[in-house]
Order: sequence, then structure tokens, then C-alpha cells
Amino acid sequence: MQNTEYKTPEELKVLVKQNKKEIDAFFSMLRKKKPKNLDSFFHSLHHEAFENFSCLNCANCCSSLSPIITENDIDRLAKHFKRKPAQMIDEYFHIDEDGDYVFNESPCPFLMPDNYCMVYENRPKACREYPHTDRRKMIQILNLTKKNCEVCPIVHNITREIMSKRHT
Ligand code: SF4
Ligand code: SF4
Repeated sequence: MQNTEYKTPEELKVLVKQNKKEIDAFFSMLRKKKPKNLDSFFHSLHHEAFENFSCLNCANCCSSLSPIITENDIDRLAKHFKRKPAQMIDEYFHIDEDGDYVFNESPCPFLMPDNYCMVYENRPKACREYPHTDRRKMIQILNLTKKNCEVCPIVHNITREIMSKRHT
């Protein structure tokens, strides 16, 4: 796979918009055909991409998305800061329209100026799992993956790579 270049969410949005028809058609085809080897395509490109790219050069996800925060995440973060879960909720989180805890602000309050995560060892589960391109049954998260093409340069590159393989 070509080196994943750093792109801002704005640049990715423009790129995805320019190729919208092609990307929409690709994800529609995946939904319809449900290729059996979809997970292995995504997983091998995911590992290759993360071997060659440091998220410290990017942090788009931490800057522009608010992960869903579970009660376990809040308990872990409370221990990290030696505070009570209720104090963490008061200061950092609110419940969104779907009934999930999310951060009050974006970029994430734990993102430091050098792109390190202040709570890395105890970061929320959704942060650990982002951008989800190594999970099983990718077929179940195609809408999310398409959306993440606009945020994560790795998801964008993996998608482009699989699209290009279809034409070779
Ligand atoms: S908790 Fe850490 S990994 Fe999660 S969004 Fe904030 S800075 Fe990023
Ligand atoms: S997971 Fe994607 S969006 Fe987040 S920092 Fe890494 S490359 Fe950037």
C-alpha cells in the first residue's frame, strides 16, 4: 500500500467529495456482494498501514470525533485521575441524543498539543478500537467505515487500495 500521507479532515472531506460516486458505488457493491474475504483485505491493509504511519502525526480522530464513553471508561478515567466518576461526568461528559456519554468538547480535552493522549493507558474503549478496520465482520460496519474515510487517512487509504485491487 502507498504510504499513508497525513491529511486533515478538511482535505479528506474534499477528496471523498471528489470521489463520492465511486466510493458510494464501492460500498454499495460490498453491501450487496458481501465478499467472503473482506475481513482479510481490511485486516492486512490495516496492519500494514499502522506499521508505516504514526497517529502522532495526525490525531484527526481525537480532534474531530467524540467517541462513545461507557460507564467502565468513566470508572477507569476516574481512577486514573484519582477522582470520583460523578466528578468526571460533571467536568467532561454529557449524554447525547442517542443516550450515550460523549465528551463536552471537541478536540478531546485529553489530547495534548503534541498529539499524545494524556490518558493513553486508560483511554476509552472506542478510542482503542478506532478506526475499527481490524475488527471482525467488517460487513456490519460499512456505513461507519465509509464515514470514517472523511476523518482517518488510514481508512481512506485502505478503502482506495481495496477499490484499486478490484480494477487490477
Ligand atoms: S481519550 Fe485520548 S485517544 Fe481518546 S479521543 Fe481523547 S486524546 Fe484521543
Ligand atoms: S486512527 Fe486515523 S484519524 Fe486517528 S490518529 Fe490514527 S490515522 Fe489519524
